[in-house]
Amino acid sequence: MVMSYAEIAKQPEALRRTPNLGEWADERAGWSWDSVVAELDLPDGLVNQAHECIDRHAAASPDKVAMIWEGSDGSVERYSFDEMRRHSNRFANALAALGIGKAERVFFFTDRIPELYFACFGTLKRGAIIAPLFSAFGPEPVKERIERAEGSVVVTTPNLLPKINAIRSDLPSLRHVIVIAHRAGAEVAPEDLDYQELVRDASEEYEIERTGSEDWSVMHFTSGTTGLPKGAAHVHNAVISHYATGKYVLDLHADDVYWCTADPGWVTGTSYGMFAPWSNGVTNLIYEGGFGASRWYETIARHNVTVWYTAPTAIRLLMKAGSDAARRHDLSSLRYVMSVGEPLNPEGVVWGEDAFQLPIHDNWWQTETGAIMIANYIGMPIRPGSMGRPFPGIEAAIIDDQFQPVDEPMKEGQLALKPGWPSMFRTYWNDQERYDSRFKGGWYLTGDRAKRDADGYFWFVGRDDDVINTAGHLVGPFEVESALIEHDSVAEAGVIGKPDPVAMEIVKAFVSLAAGVEPSERLRRELTRHCRERLGPGVAPREIEFIDTLPKTRSGKIMRRLLKARELGLPEGDTSTLEDD
Ligand code: AMP
Repeated sequence: MVMSYAEIAKQPEALRRTPNLGEWADERAGWSWDSVVAELDLPDGLVNQAHECIDRHAAASPDKVAMIWEGSDGSVERYSFDEMRRHSNRFANALAALGIGKAERVFFFTDRIPELYFACFGTLKRGAIIAPLFSAFGPEPVKERIERAEGSVVVTTPNLLPKINAIRSDLPSLRHVIVIAHRAGAEVAPEDLDYQELVRDASEEYEIERTGSEDWSVMHFTSGTTGLPKGAAHVHNAVISHYATGKYVLDLHADDVYWCTADPGWVTGTSYGMFAPWSNGVTNLIYEGGFGASRWYETIARHNVTVWYTAPTAIRLLMKAGSDAARRHDLSSLRYVMSVGEPLNPEGVVWGEDAFQLPIHDNWWQTETGAIMIANYIGMPIRPGSMGRPFPGIEAAIIDDQFQPVDEPMKEGQLALKPGWPSMFRTYWNDQERYDSRFKGGWYLTGDRAKRDADGYFWFVGRDDDVINTAGHLVGPFEVESALIEHDSVAEAGVIGKPDPVAMEIVKAFVSLAAGVEPSERLRRELTRHCRERLGPGVAPREIEFIDTLPKTRSGKIMRRLLKARELGLPEGDTSTLEDD
């Protein structure tokens, strides 16, 4: 097996660290969330994520580099914890001056630029909620999310502003659009607010709002099988889990340079792109550019990244580029590589050994859990293909259809968690009923199917629903179907995830056409364009197939399960509820 304690001890001195987590079983037996809390600075029962991540460290080590930022053009900027404190204070003051108060939703629709991070922490200091959006979204997903959360503010950049302008008149709750224009050298229109101007006139000092553990902090949208995306809302208490998992799963040490490749538009990009490293006071690399094997390796080498958290799709693309591409760069600073978002194939784990002389450690969690729940720890032998074992403070189980734990090893069931960990989501915004439906028999139901082996390692089987996982991003079929149906030529649409060797799944749409419309290559292209414009390239279908009629239940619901079985040439299963032709 890979990387036991003894093997870590054999590593070169420069890379060797005593893992923060001791033997898994011992840590689990003696676990106490209270002792984690004791390491944080939570005066009078108050907790604020920005205080834990920024101000606490600005007081202790003001000049330590908090953020190394590398822009798409290769320029590099560095910000100390104290600079982060002052920049975020300015934004908190700017929000106060605009009359933005506690628990109001501030959306972020920007590229990964330093101001995004300053403004996010400023918003948290103000006691308002940050709601980051993926910058590759089209106007439709942006509109749905702001509408659902009744967002008051959007912070954006000139390149993305046209998408906001396209939907603005449909969003009565939206009071302010703040544009970070100075990096692009752009002018700000009179109806918008200029970020630079707002912060220039604002004070560098700000007294953080007195937020308690249950005050709202972060909202991320996640896709379900039915309906539009739901806003999973988290509270400031979540930082306890971010800190603990940063310390014990990411194994962060004071001198690490850490890089998480996820965008803050997805929960990994906030929990592990911001809160876990900064609550641990670690130097965090923010890389604005997109994927590119050589580019990524150069980035690791240039900044001496030691701990790297990425995703299976990226790892599969790196594997395609070959181990030699990795060996052409000096990656000797790396000491620990992790992955999340989709199952990491055993070949990926082992490939890490070949390319980096380090195995890749898979871990599992989701938007709703707010932090890592199951992991392969640095000091624990990896079982390639397994997600690992539960975090010490977490109880995970495989449960049957009656919500009873299944003790038999390797028996498939739904993966469930005992509620109550600090970063557990607290509601789906304006949809408490759906939230409640995720808790049954004393368990939180994850919606994933899995197995557990005799040694307590969990093995992912698949989703329990029709949600598509494409390159680690969840896509709700309903959202895509709705966009297709908006087109005049489309009568009905059914959308599934089609297996793909790189992205795990791609979005595939089956479309039946309106009366009198004939299928054609031109129409297929037109529908693709229509979806890309509305939804953005990450959500729009990669394949569209025309079919005469879609299989439906007698109650009229499209049977996506059947579309998928047919696509894969698998048995169709129980079709007793299928509508007669
Ligand atoms: P999200 O809420 O967008 O972060 O997506 C969470 C979902 O991604 C989980 O419920 C799983 O279906 C999938 N997922 C995340 N990490 C893993 C992993 N390590 N192995 C398998 N599936 C994963």
